[in-house]
Amino acid sequence: MKKIILANPRGFCAGVDRAITIVEKALEKYGAPVYVRHEVVHNKYVVDGLKERGAIFIEEIKDVPEGSILIYSAHGVPLSVRHEAEAKSLTMIFDATCPLVSKVHVELKNLHRNQYQIIMIGHKGHPEVEGTMGQVNGGIHLIENEADVDTLPIPHYAEKIAVVTQTTLSVDETKSIIAKLKSTYPNLRLPKNEDICYATQNRQDAVKEMAKVCDAIIVIGSKTSSNSNRLKELGENLGVKSYLIDFDYEIDSAWLTDVQSIGLTAGASAPEVLVEGVIKKLQSHGFSSIESLNVIEEHMIFALPSGLRD
Ligand code: SF4
Repeated sequence: MKKIILANPRGFCAGVDRAITIVEKALEKYGAPVYVRHEVVHNKYVVDGLKERGAIFIEEIKDVPEGSILIYSAHGVPLSVRHEAEAKSLTMIFDATCPLVSKVHVELKNLHRNQYQIIMIGHKGHPEVEGTMGQVNGGIHLIENEADVDTLPIPHYAEKIAVVTQTTLSVDETKSIIAKLKSTYPNLRLPKNEDICYATQNRQDAVKEMAKVCDAIIVIGSKTSSNSNRLKELGENLGVKSYLIDFDYEIDSAWLTDVQSIGLTAGASAPEVLVEGVIKKLQSHGFSSIESLNVIEEHMIFALPSGLRD
């Protein structure tokens, strides 16, 4: 019998849940419109739904009218954006930056204050990376892969040198880059706790387990979602055909030829309603049995900002 193997955990993490709730509560409490700097989370379905309810997504603070309510996205913002927003007469600003991203900001500012040269592992142009690097005025080197380590303009004997990472990278790739950094810079200071967040780690662990028992993997998430892309890449690296889709109608029946068991997961910004849609679609293709693959239970919850608590 053809079966669906459903990854657990999958989908929303605590940071995404908090960020979406902040926009929803701001709309409920203060009415539309509310302005959100950048997509609050990288998911088309979520963003379109919030737009319908009156959220306006902007990239530049100059596009926020005076007297408006502004929300920063879950990815965080550079200090320059905060300063620009604070210089305007806005009614209120809510910060939906994930607390795990804020933790990296604090860590980075401490390192900078203590005159460390800082290396950030992350993807160039990703808003989280721009937000994190923008916490200090220069002195950070961004690298994306092991090869970039060789291009760093930092002497091997540097004493004050530290590394931070984007929260949603590939766990394995990050480990190998850090290993190379350690062998290049003996005095490298590592983050106190791993910067890769629990949700990224857990969803990748679940894909590793799924890859052992599935013929193909579908990841639900948007192309702009870093953690969703990493899940797809991980499946492929483990030798299993993997597909990243936003919606059930993107499934190509050719993907299902000769597939007896298909793994299904969702990135941290993809809501469960989209998983349900994909399950129905797969059922219509004869995948009549569903098994849950439980890797770890998650209980993380992040508090809302004081102005939006019930
Ligand atoms: S993926 Fe991790 S860092 Fe990003 S919002 Fe979720 S919990 Fe926060």
